[in-house]
Amino acid sequence: MKTQETVLEIDLNNLKHNFEFIKSRLQPQTKILAVVKAFAYGSDAEVIANYLQELNVDYLAVAYVSEGIQLRKAGVHIPILVLHPQSVNFKLLIDYCLEPNLYNFRVLNDFIAIATDLKQNNYPVHIKFNTGLNRLGFEADAIDAITEITNSNDIIKVTSIFSHLAASEDLNEQDFTQQQIRLFKKIKTDFNNLSTDKPFAHLTNTSGILNYPEAHFDMVRTGIGLYGFGNSKIHSKNLKPIATLKSIISQIHTIQKGESLGYNRALIADKTIKTATIPIGHADGISRQYGNGNGFVYINQQKAPIIGNVCMDMIMVDITEIKCNEGDEVTIYNGSHTASSFAKSANTISYEIITATSRRIKRIIQR
Ligand SMILES: *Cc1c(COP(=O)(O)O)cnc(C)c1O
Repeated sequence: MKTQETVLEIDLNNLKHNFEFIKSRLQPQTKILAVVKAFAYGSDAEVIANYLQELNVDYLAVAYVSEGIQLRKAGVHIPILVLHPQSVNFKLLIDYCLEPNLYNFRVLNDFIAIATDLKQNNYPVHIKFNTGLNRLGFEADAIDAITEITNSNDIIKVTSIFSHLAASEDLNEQDFTQQQIRLFKKIKTDFNNLSTDKPFAHLTNTSGILNYPEAHFDMVRTGIGLYGFGNSKIHSKNLKPIATLKSIISQIHTIQKGESLGYNRALIADKTIKTATIPIGHADGISRQYGNGNGFVYINQQKAPIIGNVCMDMIMVDITEIKCNEGDEVTIYNGSHTASSFAKSANTISYEIITATSRRIKRIIQR
């Protein structure tokens, strides 16, 4: 159906295809955690989480407590791991039965104190280890001290231990990744020898799942793969982008040689050109990097470069060579003109362009 405004179409059949493809790469007993942080990578967290719940995903993960609360309020009842919680939200986290990543002694002790106040028993928590990303997580030498704390109380129960790969998509970094995998294996052995909780273990994100099948452990965590991107040509061809971002031509202008276009007169026409104004701008996720000829959209299957500066609510594109009319449909990205290639035109990656999609853009769910 021809669109009459800017919309993000989300295809749940493609999500199902991606979920099943990733599942086909796992041992039958390996659990799947679906990462639905950042509004399910800019799509629609409530819809995606509920649909994955229907598909019997084992776990969900969000970054922050507020994201987990939104999902609980939307009817999600399966376990939700909060990847980057802050102590100030631990009471709320418990109120909504969310499961924290505890990544250092500060949050571990804060969590036990709050869970004790709230009279919790065996509350499920997840302990993260740093194996080389140097972002979040305990060092391996903290295992003695962690297990001393967790063994001596029945307030919390360590449900899983995990770590995160730094360069799983980069095959030039295989040695580094193998080193992370070896370190995590040792952490798992040492932790399970000392802990009375016997947690399960997980390490890989989407590229880790696809590139390091020997490192799946008990569960895998997939985000970008579910949304249709594999971080390489080989893997992406097995996946289907779930989102299509489209818009319409609001107005067409003819600009004479010497006249300018848009803010700061960033473009001065060197000949007569035709431009189309489209209702999507940097407030919608199309950053200014896409302007001045870098990015392009598709109109009637033809490439129309984004010219001049990207405005807050609008872009202008060059349609001098394209036969089109006001009201015609514009594709920013879809299954064949992918978000990943659109992102490349502004020197960025699929993750950034899709998660930037503004909340004010209407979502249309197809299933
Ligand atoms: C975001 C995130 C993931 C998902 O990564 P993808 O590359 O999108 O599959 C997995 N694990 C952690 C810890 C994350 O923060």
